[in-house]
Amino acid sequence: MKRRLVAGNWKMNGTNASMTELQQLAAAYPSASTDILICPPATLIARAADLTADSAIRIGAQDCHPAPSGAHTGDISAPMLADAGATAVIVGHSERRENHDESSALVAGKASAAHASGLTALICLGESLAEREAARTLDIIADQLAASVPDTATDADTVIAYEPIWAIGTGLTPSPAQIAEVHDFIRARLGGRFGPDAAGSFRLLYGGSVNPSNAAAIFAIPNVDGALVGGASLKASDFSPIINALE
Ligand code: PEP
Repeated sequence: MKRRLVAGNWKMNGTNASMTELQQLAAAYPSASTDILICPPATLIARAADLTADSAIRIGAQDCHPAPSGAHTGDISAPMLADAGATAVIVGHSERRENHDESSALVAGKASAAHASGLTALICLGESLAEREAARTLDIIADQLAASVPDTATDADTVIAYEPIWAIGTGLTPSPAQIAEVHDFIRARLGGRFGPDAAGSFRLLYGGSVNPSNAAAIFAIPNVDGALVGGASLKASDFSPIINALE
């Protein structure tokens, strides 16, 4: 039975003072029946990993460079993240695709680098509002999925997060039918590429304005195996009810 996953993306938020939120989470979940991941900024990964070592919380990163080392000022490699205590890394978040012009080919390179360092890659896909309104959602998802997921990906090292760009940080969420349509589509595409058995084992997360009030309804949608949560992951009092909705 595949374990479901709630992942929190702190984005460019958090300082040492935020560790109290993480300590609260770690105390609340000494063990859990779901996987729980917090992705703080890179500056906090090592400390966060230490603080959560005896709990069910795992620590991830928000990005990595595709190369293991080299002349890439300001970048951080997957081996460095693993060395700091991360077990996973988000790649292809729409904010990176937009703000840093990241292509799906680059995202696939980052995912491969993550895998080579023993990290789970959380690969994000999602359409813009204009693309949805032009009825291009499934075409965009198909293209991003095909080009962002390496051929060598497995259900053990890769998680797919469907994050419609227009739902991120806006308070807007797609209808259950819209989420189901995309998640069913992703599952079917994975089946065509990796075989139906493996496709069934990949975890598919929904992300975009998940909060304590809508989490249970989102988790009840078929083919939703958890969530990638931004704003509502910053405070333990918001994130815990989302975890509990999945437990
Ligand atoms: C995200 O940034 O991945 C995200 C889903 O953000 P939010 O939950 O704030 O919409």
